[in-house]
Amino acid sequence: MAKVLIIGCGGVASVAIRKCCMNSDVFGEIVIASRTKSKCDDLAAKLKGKTATKISTAEVDADDFDALVSLIREVKPDLVMNIALPYQDLTIMDACLECGVDYMDTANYEPENLDDPVWKARYEKRCKEQGFTALFDYSWQWDYKEKFEKAGLTALLGSGFDPGVTQVFCAYAQKHLFDTIETIDILDCNGGDHGYPFATNFNPEINLREVSAPGSYWEDGKWVEIPPMSIKRQYDFDGVGVKDMYLLHHEEIESLAKNIKGVKRIRFFMTFGQSYLTHMKCLENVGMLSTSPIMYEGREIVPIQFLKALLPDPASLGPRTKGKTNIGCIFTGVKDGKRKTAYIYNVCDHQECYKEVESQAISYTTGVPAMIGAKMLLTGKWDRDGVFTCEEFDPDPYMDELNKNGLPWQVEEHPDLVE
Ligand code: NDP
Repeated sequence: MAKVLIIGCGGVASVAIRKCCMNSDVFGEIVIASRTKSKCDDLAAKLKGKTATKISTAEVDADDFDALVSLIREVKPDLVMNIALPYQDLTIMDACLECGVDYMDTANYEPENLDDPVWKARYEKRCKEQGFTALFDYSWQWDYKEKFEKAGLTALLGSGFDPGVTQVFCAYAQKHLFDTIETIDILDCNGGDHGYPFATNFNPEINLREVSAPGSYWEDGKWVEIPPMSIKRQYDFDGVGVKDMYLLHHEEIESLAKNIKGVKRIRFFMTFGQSYLTHMKCLENVGMLSTSPIMYEGREIVPIQFLKALLPDPASLGPRTKGKTNIGCIFTGVKDGKRKTAYIYNVCDHQECYKEVESQAISYTTGVPAMIGAKMLLTGKWDRDGVFTCEEFDPDPYMDELNKNGLPWQVEEHPDLVE
C-alpha cells in the first residue's frame, strides 16, 4: 500500500482526499499538508473512523522550496499530489526532484506575480512566436522532462477533468474509435444553479483570470486568437438542455495539438449564463480583476485577491447547487476509410456529489480524476520516466476507474456537431 503527500486542502483536494480514502487498498496512508493547517485537521477529523486509510496533517508553505523538501523528507511519500494552486507547480516539482519522488497536479503552471521580469520576458517572446496570450502554457513544466527522465521519476500534469479526463477521452477515441481524428471540440457545460447572483465554482482568482482572457483555438498547425467571449454557440446538452457556450483558450489544446497526430482543429467551449458574464464584465471594467497591487489606505492590496475574499468560498456552494454538469469531447475523423463522428461525455449531478462527498460537481469532477491519476501512478498502470499529460498514457485503465468512482462516461455516435 502506498503513502501519498497531498498538498492543498481546498474544494478539489477535499474531494480527492475523500476519494483516496474510498480506495484505501491503494492509498494506505495520506498526509494532508496545506498553508492553513486547520482545514486539513477539520477534514481529517471528519474522516476519522470512516476509512482504513491512515491520515495525518501538516502545515506547509508550498512556495517555500526548503520547507517542502524537509516535509517530503520527513513524510517519505511514494507520490506528491499537488492540489494547491498552479502558482506552486514549479516549486513542488523542484522539491520532488530534490527528494526523488513522483509528482502530479491538476493545472499547469502560471505565475502569481505577473510583473516578474524573468517570467514576463519569456511570456512576451511566446506570445509573439506562438500567437496566444494566455498567462499559462506547458513550456515551463515541459522543461523538466529531461530532469525527471534522468532521475527515473514521473510527473503527471493536469489530472483533473479539463485538463485531464478530456485528454483521456481523446486518447480513447484515438485508440478505439478513429484511425485519424481531424477535429476535437471540448465542451464544458455547467447547468448548476447555486442561487447567488455571482460566484465561481473553483478558486475565483484562477477562474476569473482564465475566463476574462482572450479565447484561442488551434487550426491548421497554428493558434488563432480572438477577443474574450467573441465566439458564441448554443448546444443541447444531455441531462442539462440548451445552453450558450463561449470559445475559451484552454491548456489541454496545447498538449493535444502535439500528441494527437494529424488533428486539424481543436476548440474549447464553456457555458456561461448572461448574469455571470454581466457581473464579470462590470468587475473587469472597474478594475477588480486586476492582479497588480494597488495602495489602499497605506496598505498594498491586489484587487482580484480582495474580490476573492468577498465572493462565496467555492467549497461552500455544495449544499446550494442544483442541476448537472456535462463535460466531454466531440470528434470528427476517419475510421476504416469512412468519415465518422463521436461524442464521449460524462453527466454529473451536483446534489448527488454533495450527498457523497459534501461538495458540488465542479470540485467533484476535478477531485475524482486527481485520485485516479494518482492511482494510475501508484499501481504502475501508468509508468514512464519524464513529464507527461494524460493523453500520453493508455486510456483504458483510467476510463475503467472513471466508471468505478462516480464519473461514468458514454459514447454517442452521430452527435450534433458545433458549427
Ligand atoms: P482552492 O482555492 O479551493 O484550494 C487551494 C488550496 O491550496 C487551499 O487549501 C490553499 O490553502 C492551498 N494553498 C494555496 N497556496 C498555498 C501555498 N503557498 N502553500 C500551501 N498551500 C497552499 O482551489 P481549488 O480546490 O478550487 O483548486 C485546486 C486546483 O485545482 C487549482 O490548481 C485549480 O486550478 C485546479 N482545478 C483544475 C480543474 C481541472 O479540471 N483540471 C478544474 C478546477 C480546478 P488556504 O486554505 O490557506 O488558502
